[in-house]
Amino acid sequence: MKKVLVLGAGGFIGAHLVKRLRKEGCWVKGVDLKLPPYAETQANDFLKGDLRDPLVCREAINTNFDEVYQLAADMGGAGYIFVGKNDYDIMQNSASINLNVIEFCRKKDIKRIFYSSSACMYPEYNQLDPGDPNLKEDSAYPAQPDSEYGWEKLFSERLFLAAARNKGLEVRIARYHNIFGSEGSWNDGREKAPAAMCRKVAFAKNGGEIEIWGDGKQTRSFLHIDECLEATLRLTRSDWQGPVNIGSDEMVTITELANIIMDVANKKLSIKYIEGPIGVKGRNSDNTLYEKKLGWRVSKSLKSGIEKTYPWIENQVKITN
Ligand code: NAD
Repeated sequence: MKKVLVLGAGGFIGAHLVKRLRKEGCWVKGVDLKLPPYAETQANDFLKGDLRDPLVCREAINTNFDEVYQLAADMGGAGYIFVGKNDYDIMQNSASINLNVIEFCRKKDIKRIFYSSSACMYPEYNQLDPGDPNLKEDSAYPAQPDSEYGWEKLFSERLFLAAARNKGLEVRIARYHNIFGSEGSWNDGREKAPAAMCRKVAFAKNGGEIEIWGDGKQTRSFLHIDECLEATLRLTRSDWQGPVNIGSDEMVTITELANIIMDVANKKLSIKYIEGPIGVKGRNSDNTLYEKKLGWRVSKSLKSGIEKTYPWIENQVKITN
């Protein structure tokens, strides 16, 4: 039986990954500061602890796991990473975790380790045109991420790549682009656009109004968690290290995202555009490299993902009010 370690197993992607690995028949250990808040963990073993602490990290990485997924990070949506006041914490916390994790993986002679980077590491200057952003993997340099979160991801990508080069680790690196789905942050200040928008729509009465940060013309793409996990496992088990984009290439404006959610919710609402943190003007996943190297492509529509996610958030709104 494959022995797998998921770091960040109390988080959105980590908790879903644990479920998926258990379904495949793996034995899974999860580690996080917290248990998953919305559903019981499916991990065979769960260590609650702080991976910034080397002693906890040693306890976490205590055997020669067949696969390690490093998802733990100080992380949030635009309301967390673009407001300026969390910059030091984000860099200090996530870099400490990554430095510890890679060192203990090395000590335990772990070979295969997946690291979750982010599209936020791409240079801002290639994301100024909402209609035509450039997010090809080789456009990363000269570096100019628009947030300290992005800079930390870039540093840690390089840390993992250096470990592969000098210490014999088999790293696999994905740059995730806006992953969404049920059982993720939706009202704790760390939620991202799809969850925030689903919440606003769920709260609003038909014929009412919702607020959107910015002018609604900024573009993004959103990948549902199921396809994210499929792409992640395919990459981790492949012979190729990346870094590679994992995201959807169905680019929409934020207003279009709101309209899709209203459509799924069967509500007609007006939109009030207000000032708020918005990040770069345009972003879309360029999947050319992933498709070429892995021979597989994400294909599900944004709407189909919202159809799975909206009812969960609508229910959260009902049970918390
Ligand atoms: P998340 O915030 O839900 O999960 C991260 C988990 O890390 C949390 O449960 C948190 O408690 C844990 N963590 C933070 N500090 C810790 C510490 N010191 N010790 C132990 N655990 C700690 O985020 P997510 O959406 O599941 O993202 C997972 C990974 O993917 C992160 O590295 C994130 O940066 C990356 N990523 C996610 C997205 C996305 O759209 N969700 C996009 C780009 C990159």
